[in-house]
Amino acid sequence: MNMSWKLGRIAGIDVFLHSTFFLILFLPAAATHLPLLLAMFGCVLLHEFGHALTARRFGIGTADITIYPIGGVARLTRMPRAPGAELLIALAGPAVNIAIAAGLYLSLGVMSSLGMGRFFADLLVMNLVLAGFNLIPAFPMDGGRVLRALLGGWLGRGRATVFAASVGRALAVGFGVYSLLNLAFFQVALAVFIYMAARAEEIGVLADERRRAGETEEGLDWSTPPGYRWIQTGRGVWRLAPITVSSQSRATWRDPRWR
Ligand SMILES: [Zn+2]
Repeated sequence: MNMSWKLGRIAGIDVFLHSTFFLILFLPAAATHLPLLLAMFGCVLLHEFGHALTARRFGIGTADITIYPIGGVARLTRMPRAPGAELLIALAGPAVNIAIAAGLYLSLGVMSSLGMGRFFADLLVMNLVLAGFNLIPAFPMDGGRVLRALLGGWLGRGRATVFAASVGRALAVGFGVYSLLNLAFFQVALAVFIYMAARAEEIGVLADERRRAGETEEGLDWSTPPGYRWIQTGRGVWRLAPITVSSQSRATWRDPRWR
């Protein structure tokens, strides 16, 4: 059963609205500020496009973008391994909200003269909150990805992920308990989501790193099958050649100029 409705296709990326999005209608703010709430989700969508279009610059595609009541998710086809790429992709989302806030700030005078000053001032503040909240280092939120990217060059990808995910889970538990005590159930749902997503991605990254380590060891396997031996073909490249090969053909292999 498909739980999402397709809103359209923007810049080659399918955009979906999750069916649970309508739960926002039960938020206390929905009764009085529905247009503002919808405008904020428009900004969330632009935030996700910030991630998606920056990822595209690094050759990483986006399967789709889905808007949930607790925020948006851009599903990248793969996660960048290079810390620099991850850093820029993670920062691009909050940067969009800061850019929107700056744009709103500059147009506030005009909007006020049109009687829309209050609405756009509120939207400005919401964008700043959105940028600030996403930059909290609760992996896998944007700030957590920034933390992993900054640690990645130092600790390596696996250990940086374990560290960032542990921080993320600890913050999620704290935030979840605090929200529960305040009966803020949307925030509790967000905390549970962050906790589970941090664990899931940590497991995935560790499995990936183990697989890569295994492949590297395989690449360094110098065992020789019977009837073969290793021959250097130049520039540090070695290959297996049958022992029966003539010395003339080996010479030809080793350096084409001898032909
Ligand atoms: Zn983001």
